[in-house]
Amino acid sequence: MKKQNNRTIGHICQLGLAALLTTGLASQAQTTLWEGHTDVGVVYELGAWNLHIGQHESTPPMEYAPNEAILGVDIVGARSTVPANPQFSFLGTAGSSVWVLPQVQDPALLFLGFGTEELASGVFVNDEVTLSLQGVRAPGQFSVYEVGMFGSPTVLMNSGDGTTAADSIRLTAGGHRHVNWAFSTPGTYEVDFEAAGTLVDGSVFSASGPITYTFSVAAVPEPSALSLLLLGGAGMLAFARRTNFRN
Ligand SMILES: [Zn+2]
Repeated sequence: MKKQNNRTIGHICQLGLAALLTTGLASQAQTTLWEGHTDVGVVYELGAWNLHIGQHESTPPMEYAPNEAILGVDIVGARSTVPANPQFSFLGTAGSSVWVLPQVQDPALLFLGFGTEELASGVFVNDEVTLSLQGVRAPGQFSVYEVGMFGSPTVLMNSGDGTTAADSIRLTAGGHRHVNWAFSTPGTYEVDFEAAGTLVDGSVFSASGPITYTFSVAAVPEPSALSLLLLGGAGMLAFARRTNFRN
């Protein structure tokens, strides 16, 4: 009788899990990264570009294709105000809200940079590649900038004044660089980057073509009822399986 009950519980759990997996998780196929040291990784190997997202602090370290993960910008923690200093007017009107992932790590936010550690030296002329902004589909403007020792910004990319060849950043093979990422309004930003460089071998120009990265300026979700239910269901299933094995 006990055996029967365990089987029944297991069966119900399996049905429930199957339903949850098909209905609930399909829409969550993309992971949203809300914190931790993460880089837009640029690699060129075996004659092909490989742009990805590397998350170094997770255990184990994770690597995602650009369409497998969303770069999360916490709508509460990343909210800042455009400074009165006119050098920051590219961010918007002084005093208005702007959402920024900072170049100096804030443990509560995604710490996002550019990683070219895996880019071998001697492959590109001057060991240099550029990452350029090709397009932005978003409810607001997107910019990337650095702030120097004396507090002055250097704008590297800014969709607010159109997307031109000036919207690019130089990256060095074996390098690693952190910047500020700014968003003028909440919402989803689809940002197209292209990596390019001139190969030492034959002085051939090579470009990756546009690769889309997605940012989401939104509220960090609380653990959902679905995920709690799923964890509970998985626990029950594991228990039922263990019990069955023992029988
Ligand atoms: Zn980094």
